[in-house]
Amino acid sequence: MANQEQESEKHAAENMDVLASTQTIVKDALDKLGYPNEVYALMKEPMRLLTVRIPIRMDDDSVKVFTGYRAQHNDAVGPTKGGVRFHPNVTENEVKALSIWMTLKAGIVDLPYGGGKGGIVCDPRQMSFRELERLSRGYVRAISQLVGPTKDIPAPDVFTNSQIMAWMVDEYSRIREFDSPGFITGKPIVLGGSHGRESATAKGVTICIREAAKKKELNIEGAGVIIQGFGNAGSYLAKFLHDAGAKIVGIADAYGGLYDADGLDIDYLLDRRDSFGTVTNLFKDKLTNTEILEKDCDILVPAAIENQITEENAERIKAQIVVEAANGPTTLRATKILSKRGILLVPDVLASAGGVTVSYFEWVQNNQGFYWSEEEVGKKLEGVMVHAFDNIYRLASGRKIDMRLAAYMIGVRKTAEASRFRGWL
Ligand code: GLU
Repeated sequence: MANQEQESEKHAAENMDVLASTQTIVKDALDKLGYPNEVYALMKEPMRLLTVRIPIRMDDDSVKVFTGYRAQHNDAVGPTKGGVRFHPNVTENEVKALSIWMTLKAGIVDLPYGGGKGGIVCDPRQMSFRELERLSRGYVRAISQLVGPTKDIPAPDVFTNSQIMAWMVDEYSRIREFDSPGFITGKPIVLGGSHGRESATAKGVTICIREAAKKKELNIEGAGVIIQGFGNAGSYLAKFLHDAGAKIVGIADAYGGLYDADGLDIDYLLDRRDSFGTVTNLFKDKLTNTEILEKDCDILVPAAIENQITEENAERIKAQIVVEAANGPTTLRATKILSKRGILLVPDVLASAGGVTVSYFEWVQNNQGFYWSEEEVGKKLEGVMVHAFDNIYRLASGRKIDMRLAAYMIGVRKTAEASRFRGWL
């Protein structure tokens, strides 16, 4: 018990850092762009944060009360947009930081949205299918006043998927008494989901890896890759890179890591993973999921959770390229260390923006009632990501700053400008 308490205190402290470090870079970015302090005062916190308590009848007939959040960072550009995560370590500060990152992503890939994010403190790995359904529906009832297709549009995130989106859109449509597919994205295709949404984050990361490799004159074919995290983003990414001829030498899930300098059997691992991305429990000889980060490779992709590359291990990272598929995997201090060591770091707000980009395509298709082919979605995503990567890389090289600060500068600009045009500042 004492251990559990210590763990949750540690997570609360780390999430404080996640918010504080996000604010630090937002401030730096706004200063560099020459915006006055009131712009920072507006952007350093979400404009709205709703905390809800959700009582759920569990399968054993007991009632458990869950805590949930929905943060809306800024809606000057348009409705807020961002996922909902189900995770035991969700905290208010984490959701706040995640909502700011969504504003940045929307700015970077130029979507007509501001950032939003939601979370429920729970462990879906310990819950039954029906309990998860009741929790998903309960969350929508609790936040229904605040969300909607032209207000705030949720989506999947850590440990949530298209089935959970399906329950959520059904609950919302029942409350509103009309079909509202544009209320949420990441839905199953038959309920108005978009082709290519499920693999979109990984596609976007793959494009960033390809572009970063070009800059470092590294051939993807034969390059050694380590992916920490085997959920939606990590598993699709392993497949895409494996198909492109890269050697996946390491993967990790929440319970451990596997490493083989000759390359892992990715098809086998993908086949055996469960819906939460767990696969290492099938193996006896394994590393921890943080040891894996320090193993030999050319490209390292943290695709799990926050605060994985820290000042503790940044000096020992062997990769020449780090591409952040997860939100917030590298701390501010670690970013500085990697940059000093000449490692090219492609930041989360750029690398993981493929997901929200195709979410936007899904919402557009829902609004117009006319649907696109997978090929069309893929082509549009490719154009958006390459353009965003180039913009940020060029700004970073021109101003001699790291790609994270350049991404923040591009990411904050649209919201700052829109807030001024609206006369808020
Ligand atoms: N949860 C994803 C993210 O962090 C996707 C959000 C969305 O599709 O709206 O970017």
